[in-house]
Amino acid sequence: MTKISILGSTGSIGQNCLEVISRSKNKWDVVGLSAGRNRELFRKQVTEFNPKIISLEREEDVAEFRREYPESSAEIFHGQEGAEAVARYDESDIVLSAITGINGLRPTLGAVQSGKRVALANKESLVVAGPLILETAERTGSQIIPVDSEHSGVFQCLAKEEKNHVKKVILTASGGPFFHVSAEEMKNKTLDEALNHPRWKMGKKVTIDSATLMNKGLELIEARWLFDLEPEQLDMLIHPQSIVHSLVEMRDGSVLAQLSPTDMKIPIQYALTYPDREEALLPSLDLSQVRALEFYEIDEKKFPLVKLAREALETGGSLPVVLNTANEVAVEAFIEGKIPFSDIAEIVTETVENHKTRKIGGLEEIFDIDRETKLKTRNLIDQR
Ligand code: MG
Repeated sequence: MTKISILGSTGSIGQNCLEVISRSKNKWDVVGLSAGRNRELFRKQVTEFNPKIISLEREEDVAEFRREYPESSAEIFHGQEGAEAVARYDESDIVLSAITGINGLRPTLGAVQSGKRVALANKESLVVAGPLILETAERTGSQIIPVDSEHSGVFQCLAKEEKNHVKKVILTASGGPFFHVSAEEMKNKTLDEALNHPRWKMGKKVTIDSATLMNKGLELIEARWLFDLEPEQLDMLIHPQSIVHSLVEMRDGSVLAQLSPTDMKIPIQYALTYPDREEALLPSLDLSQVRALEFYEIDEKKFPLVKLAREALETGGSLPVVLNTANEVAVEAFIEGKIPFSDIAEIVTETVENHKTRKIGGLEEIFDIDRETKLKTRNLIDQR
């Protein structure tokens, strides 16, 4: 049995992962689970999978959980340190890292430092600390397998290729709910409209990032580190059907693509079983039903965060950290109803433009920049 810990078990990726595992329970032993505040679902998961170490976001949730569920014998922790303890837990072979945002950085790095195989769904940790994570992985022998559908696609296309074969990697974007809407109409779209993603069912943060296309910008930066590519080797296209998850152009002109039904269980299962492939949990892809696969250029005027992300990709240093944090804060403010949709891009742009890029020394400096940027972005929001 392979022993697995799941960080972010009550989120969309975490739930999908447990579903994948449930179909072949004799192969998997869930030894660790960490979650945010959804105690009700967490309790169900702990009851079903009986992990040895668990963690919740807040201390008070841990106290409540103990009261509600006194029979649980799991060791229980809280906060980022708690998630990190689950990530580092001795017994686990694989850690699925699926906490959203920069909060996933410490636990992800913990798993990498402990030499685990990391099935990586938390894109922000590579965006803000790509070089640090990859250097650490090299040292500890930790294997990082992407879970993000586009990166899983690239990973699969590159599995048997030499690095110098690759000319260009193209990530696809569904275009989100506002692809067909004019820039003017997009300005005052509501939270419900922004959350109504045409193809993927995902958590709130990534769904809003898909509506602004920031998600694709973050994925470009993630791909740079994951596949050791130069910024100019990275591109993206809108592909509304979300069947082709990415394309890799080789130097001889061949283009490889990875296609699959639009369901996160596929890349999750691949990351867990790699280099094996197991039976699909879903019906086969029927291209005669899909009929058309379309591709469009991205309108960077309408989606200015894409341009900004490209700038951060090229500049590096502290800029991707600032971009990521400003976006996290602005998206949160939009979700809480404090700012209209169009302010997300405006606030992120203003924060990034006011920043003087510097080199990053290490992990603590990343958190310093994160704290600094949070304050500045919140000030900008309050001024509106
Ligand atoms: Mg993705």
